[in-house]
Amino acid sequence: MSAPSPRAPAPATGPRRPHVVVVGAGFAGLSAALHLLAAGARVSVLERAATPGGKAGEWRSGGFRFDTGPTLLTLPDVVEATFAAAGRPCPLDLGRQGGGTRYVFPSGRVWDVSSDLGRTLAGLEPGEDDAYRRALERARQLYEAAAPVFVHAPAPGLPQLLRYALRHGMAAAPGRRLPQLLDALGVRGDLRTFFLRFATYFGADPFRAPAVLHNIAWVELGLGPRHVEGGMHALARALEEAVTDLGGEIRYGGEVRRLVRRGRRVSEVVSDAGATRCDGVVVAVDRTQALAMLGHAPVSDREPSLSGLVWLAGVRGTDARLASHTVFFPEDYEREFHDIRSGRHPRDPTLYVAISARSDPADAPAGCENRFVMANAPALTQRAAGREAEVAEGRRAVHAVLARHGFEPGEGVVVQRWQTPATFAAFGHRGSLYGAAPHGMLATLRPANAVAGVLNAALAGGTVHPGGGVPLALLSGRYAAARVARHLDLDTSD
Ligand SMILES: Cc1cc2nc3c(=O)[nH]c(=O)nc-3n(C[C@H](O)[C@H](O)[C@H](O)COP(=O)(O)OP(=O)(O)OC[C@H]3O[C@@H](n4cnc5c(N)ncnc54)[C@H](O)[C@@H]3O)c2cc1C
Repeated sequence: MSAPSPRAPAPATGPRRPHVVVVGAGFAGLSAALHLLAAGARVSVLERAATPGGKAGEWRSGGFRFDTGPTLLTLPDVVEATFAAAGRPCPLDLGRQGGGTRYVFPSGRVWDVSSDLGRTLAGLEPGEDDAYRRALERARQLYEAAAPVFVHAPAPGLPQLLRYALRHGMAAAPGRRLPQLLDALGVRGDLRTFFLRFATYFGADPFRAPAVLHNIAWVELGLGPRHVEGGMHALARALEEAVTDLGGEIRYGGEVRRLVRRGRRVSEVVSDAGATRCDGVVVAVDRTQALAMLGHAPVSDREPSLSGLVWLAGVRGTDARLASHTVFFPEDYEREFHDIRSGRHPRDPTLYVAISARSDPADAPAGCENRFVMANAPALTQRAAGREAEVAEGRRAVHAVLARHGFEPGEGVVVQRWQTPATFAAFGHRGSLYGAAPHGMLATLRPANAVAGVLNAALAGGTVHPGGGVPLALLSGRYAAARVARHLDLDTSD
């Protein structure tokens, strides 16, 4: 997909323009708002927080700046296309590579990986490079077959699914799990662990993920991640600015409680700040919460995807052993997911460490760095993972991994803050980051953007089609906006 050239949005005047309310100013809601404005609607975004971005929040303290959610942008064309739909170029520089990622294995082996194939292969042991190429090629095939149907198009119906199954079904290894696919490709040892981890980008337990999720490896390794100038929260701010520049209204600080229906249409959105009449609505919050607002019966409680435990630490000094993105793998990767399956924080978690100050020096005072340290964590259950003692155990495990790699966790810390599954429960059902766990070929299909029985409403966000992650949330906003715009007879040429 390449970014279309910016087109002029539909005129903001004319006969009475339909009024669409967007609930939530995360990436999905802001994208929906931009597409609706471009189609000629009058748009009000209702956001309960004081700032845009949702999960892509920001924390500033003691001269440090942290993104509190996403740190890595993939599929930058989707961002550019979102701004282009609003008739403007993306105001932020997305051009720089994220500098690649450093992987540290339990043996102490260090491997720097980027979309520069030559440099990446140079860090491999003899014999591993063929397996890497095979795995990368298979990921490319899976992505290129799946993306036109499952990513760059509205939710597929039966005909599209059948066509995909007939053309690519066998290649997608429908009955296989990811570890089996990697075994069949002869990918072993450290490389196997490395390739398994990409399934966590969709919130999956890699050992139960379907083989098709191997396609995510291509998105990062083949297409390459991008660094967003000023951080991910800056991207949310840029979208917010585009919405208001086009005449959209964003109201902060009022939680939406319910959507009032008249027959098969939503006629009013009721928030703490009052009621707003509307001709259409895009609900860009977690799907379980969205359906509750619509008065639908609670959805069956499917297994939630992964949650996270994040330590934000501003530290004095810089450490060359950490790259701008570093992953530390544990001794036993499978045991990490056994722990999560049983509802506990992993005793020896994989750690992902991002330091945005490496690319944006203003993110930390001189001679300091801002460390975003993230471990996988179980979503909240009745039994575990939310209790203070459990979380304390998770925190100790994160620090123990750092200490094992020679980073004394308490040393030089100037500011710090933890985000736990309970923190993320404000945004996602039980604190899961990506909706229902995609464990199984069919379970990778995200629920559609349509709302059963309601004509003028659509759902957007990381828990519905096409799925989680920043670019996919932006796309979901676009598909939801198109659905509502079509219903309102607006210009849907985008
Ligand atoms: C720690 C972490 C790391 C991540 N890392 C990455 C990464 O590196 N790369 C990547 O691509 N993705 C990453 N993700 C996933 C990515 O952040 C999400 O998929 C994406 O931001 C989801 O956007 P959204 O608009 O669907 O939802 P949200 O960001 O959850 O936005 C929903 C918005 O709705 C608002 N809202 C909710 N309920 C109401 C209500 N009742 N009334 C009014 N407003 C309401 C919320 O306040 C919020 O602003 C990460 C997520 C987390 C948490």
